[in-house]
Amino acid sequence: MAKKIKTNPNAGEIRDGIHYHQHDVVIVGAGGAGMRAAIESAPQASTAVITKLYPTRSHTGAAQGGMAAALANVEEDNNEWHTYDTVKGGDYLVDQDAAEILTREAIDAVLDLENMGLPFNRTPEGKIDQRRFGGHTRDHGKAPVRRACYAADRTGHMILQTLYQNCVKHGVNFFNEFYALDLVMTEVDGVQRVSGVVAYDLSTGDIHVFQGKSVIFATGGFGKIFKTTSNAHTLTGDGVGIIWRKGLPLEDMEFYQFHPTGLAGLGILLTEGARGEGAILRNASGERFMERYAPTIKDLAPRDIVARSMVQEVLDGRGAGPNKDYVFLDCTHLGEDVLENKLPDITEFARTYLGVDPVTEPVPVYPTAHYAMGGIPTNNDAEVLADNDTVVPGLYAAGECACVSVHGANRLGTNSLLDINVFGKRAGNNAVTYAKTAEFIDLPANPAQGVIGMLDELRASDGTENVAAIRKDLQDTMDMNAQVFRTEETLTKATEVIAGLRERYKNVAVHDRGKRFNTDLLEAVELGFLLDLAEVLVACALNRKESRGGHMRDDYPDRDDATYLKHTMAYLAGDPHSSVATDHIRLDWKPVRLGTYEPKARKY
Ligand SMILES: Cc1cc2nc3c(=O)[nH]c(=O)nc-3n(C[C@H](O)[C@H](O)[C@H](O)COP(=O)(O)OP(=O)(O)OC[C@H]3O[C@@H](n4cnc5c(N)ncnc54)[C@H](O)[C@@H]3O)c2cc1C
Repeated sequence: MAKKIKTNPNAGEIRDGIHYHQHDVVIVGAGGAGMRAAIESAPQASTAVITKLYPTRSHTGAAQGGMAAALANVEEDNNEWHTYDTVKGGDYLVDQDAAEILTREAIDAVLDLENMGLPFNRTPEGKIDQRRFGGHTRDHGKAPVRRACYAADRTGHMILQTLYQNCVKHGVNFFNEFYALDLVMTEVDGVQRVSGVVAYDLSTGDIHVFQGKSVIFATGGFGKIFKTTSNAHTLTGDGVGIIWRKGLPLEDMEFYQFHPTGLAGLGILLTEGARGEGAILRNASGERFMERYAPTIKDLAPRDIVARSMVQEVLDGRGAGPNKDYVFLDCTHLGEDVLENKLPDITEFARTYLGVDPVTEPVPVYPTAHYAMGGIPTNNDAEVLADNDTVVPGLYAAGECACVSVHGANRLGTNSLLDINVFGKRAGNNAVTYAKTAEFIDLPANPAQGVIGMLDELRASDGTENVAAIRKDLQDTMDMNAQVFRTEETLTKATEVIAGLRERYKNVAVHDRGKRFNTDLLEAVELGFLLDLAEVLVACALNRKESRGGHMRDDYPDRDDATYLKHTMAYLAGDPHSSVATDHIRLDWKPVRLGTYEPKARKY
């Protein structure tokens, strides 16, 4: 009998050395948002998921504390209270109709996961258990409420594994360790339409072009523009960067969240679930300082407020440690049982990375760069916008890379795992519905030309600059100048430093010139995205002369609704090769969609 020759299902059709694939729906990213979308589309149409990481290594798997939904399993709750908290937590920059969708569809999002097999923690009666989290309250701010569904402090891990298993069940075509590097657009009747994605196969160095009727970006965040961050090494904002380079806008980039409890000096996250279970922040003298900043809900105030209060304690000389540069998270009164069973991972992190045992000692903590509220603007159907209201036909975005905007100026804890499930599902549904009626659009003549040119240039460069050195200088300046507190002076400094780094980047060299597993080359590409996004963030932050949510301008300490109750929209315009931000960044505004909740001063 003739021997069966195994063909590589991921090879596609090769023409002129380039691999071509055709799928109805092409999804970039296999985190929670990408895989939740794939579960909707794969049963109905051919679906490809391109992911630079093996799916279960996506950052969603690092999420710890929980996913919000007003199930009211353990105490009275409802989604109107959840909407109110989300809008107020976001310092009124939230689009209120989007927040209503988020909180209303939250219930089904949790039940979907339960039906897919996710092992949530349970109450003694067998219901999904719920815990407290920052900013989530009963009856419009009266007291903290138990709203976060969780699986110990491994909620994201459980979500990611559950979604992956279901993607396998539905026959999703995964392209693992494929880096998307460009979005392909074709002009049809004067309108730019999506026709595909160009990707680089890490294992071979080959270029693949994926033709798709609809494309979903679900590429996650970009915390690696900062040095002290909870984010994984791979969170370099590639998807957001690709969209930016296409000339499509980015929304609210100045709003970056700093999570209060990173391990001091390291940034590794200790979930807010610890405070949800009763842990307390204390300064050097042991004072529970949040009582002064948020008298009603204290340690469970939203993250922007807690992070600022911590930094203020340190600036006022009440920090702990030899350099008085951190505060303590005190879990000692929770007892070993709660720590080992409900917070096992973070208990272990403190022991492993700081040599501190939370059972008996308070843990040194300090704010860490955590979450991008801004990103690729979409409407409530996850369709990407080319300006304030024009949809790019066939293009969708969901998850941390997108800005719907449900988080406004500050996201509440547990609302992101919710966001990726609700808007991931919406993106998948809408993309597959679109694909079922649309035709494939012809690819332009050489769709991969731009990517090949960029990679060849990097490979051939005999420049003297080094990727790691530029990245370090970028992260240092962002930590120093664009972190929890910002001023005209610090942001101007950051602008100048980034301009210099962009000049140096033109002269960057990669040492590995090979084709297989050339991570050296990809890190150079990723650094390019980081530089672009840091530059946009700082330009937007300079332009917003007020303080709101995660954006705190020390020189403009008040919120200014009369002038700034609006979203920032940033566009790449002018000379993209110039290192000077003002030569190529154009800033505009977009109205906030208000609703039931009139903007008020935030008191907690
Ligand atoms: C330590 C930590 C703890 C957290 N805890 C919580 C929590 O308890 N509750 C909560 O609500 N939120 C939490 N968050 C936030 C939340 O986990 C994330 O915002 C969310 O999981 C992001 O999901 P995503 O699907 O958008 O992106 P990710 O899960 O980051 O996935 C991104 C995907 O995009 C792919 N990708 C990226 N670039 C490319 C490219 N160029 N080509 C191909 N593929 C690409 C990656 O391979 C990956 O599969 C936490 C975050 C961190 C860092």
